Amino acid sequence: MQPRDLSAHEAYVPGRGAEEVARELGMDPEELTKLSSNENPHGPSPDAVEAVEAAASEIHVYPKTSHADLTDALAERWDLTSEQVWVSAGGDGALDNLSRAFLEPDDRVLTPKPGFSYYAMSARYHHGEVAEYSLSKADDFAQTPETILDAYDGERIVYLTTPHNPTGSEMAREDIVTLLESVEDHTLVVVDEAYGEYSEEPSAIGLLDEYDNLAVIRTFSKAFGLAGLRIGYAAVPEAWADAYARVNTPFAASKVACRAALAALGNEEHIEKSVETARWAREYYRDELNANTWPSGGNFVLVEVGDATAVAEATKRRGIIVRDTSSFGLPACIRVSCGTREETKRAVEVLNEVIADVEATKP
Ligand SMILES: *Cc1c(COP(=O)(O)O)cnc(C)c1O
Repeated sequence: MQPRDLSAHEAYVPGRGAEEVARELGMDPEELTKLSSNENPHGPSPDAVEAVEAAASEIHVYPKTSHADLTDALAERWDLTSEQVWVSAGGDGALDNLSRAFLEPDDRVLTPKPGFSYYAMSARYHHGEVAEYSLSKADDFAQTPETILDAYDGERIVYLTTPHNPTGSEMAREDIVTLLESVEDHTLVVVDEAYGEYSEEPSAIGLLDEYDNLAVIRTFSKAFGLAGLRIGYAAVPEAWADAYARVNTPFAASKVACRAALAALGNEEHIEKSVETARWAREYYRDELNANTWPSGGNFVLVEVGDATAVAEATKRRGIIVRDTSSFGLPACIRVSCGTREETKRAVEVLNEVIADVEATKP
């Protein structure tokens, strides 16, 4: 007995956790600062923690009203109908729902390189094929309609990420509009706004009234600090919003997650603090690191360090876990998440020491 041919499938490479690295190095997890997965350094909002505790005694019941309440709140937040909000287990779950709704076997999708690996993974799970467009370092990873359209060949889904992970680059709204108007009628453009809260740009959700070949992904994993709960959503146009009922895994978003997300959505103070810290930290990295960096609209900065694997290994031993972006297709770079002010300053100290050391030991 064997599963189907999975040779084209690649396993997801997550950022290393503090616990995991601590065990490997025989360190105390407390000595380690994890800046490898773009999590919220301020943690979840206290309201979300309270909601989780309150939901704990009700987890024997399937999540129906909790799901409806979150959906309605998000619809109100974005001025959409509730049908247009496809709540899911993380932003990744939202990508899966779109794959299920759109892909026939052998349909092709177009994904960014470097880029977020789950677009291709989800397409392959759903029997799709994957093509890539390149964001070029020489162009500072600029995301223009041309970069995408040059590679575009009538794919069923085109993914773009803004702010982009791992480079931080953004795509202007007028450029997204150009893309929506340039692709063929059967092409869905998925705009992944996992880092949307950190950006100064308006959300592409505002374009759903006018364009029905668009879906926008959002998550509670980043600015809302709920990565461990797995909750996110897609915002979709009215024209095909009813497909959700036919593709959604029943109760995929748990009651605890829905209740926490609803509470987090209501805590503006926590969100504002989180965004403000990230905006400060990304500028601090850019000003203080002795390395090439790129402007970022997210809660992380891409740093050119030469030998990413050596640098990531050495910073880890000094207590700072960063993300080697080799698995994204950028072996000369690391991505470092925005920490608290204290963590960010410490990360800069360590990175600057390590970059100087690695430079000095070059053959
Ligand atoms: C983090 C992230 C997501 C979603 O992650 P979830 O934890 O599944 O919500 C989606 N796209 C990008 C680019 C991300 O970085």
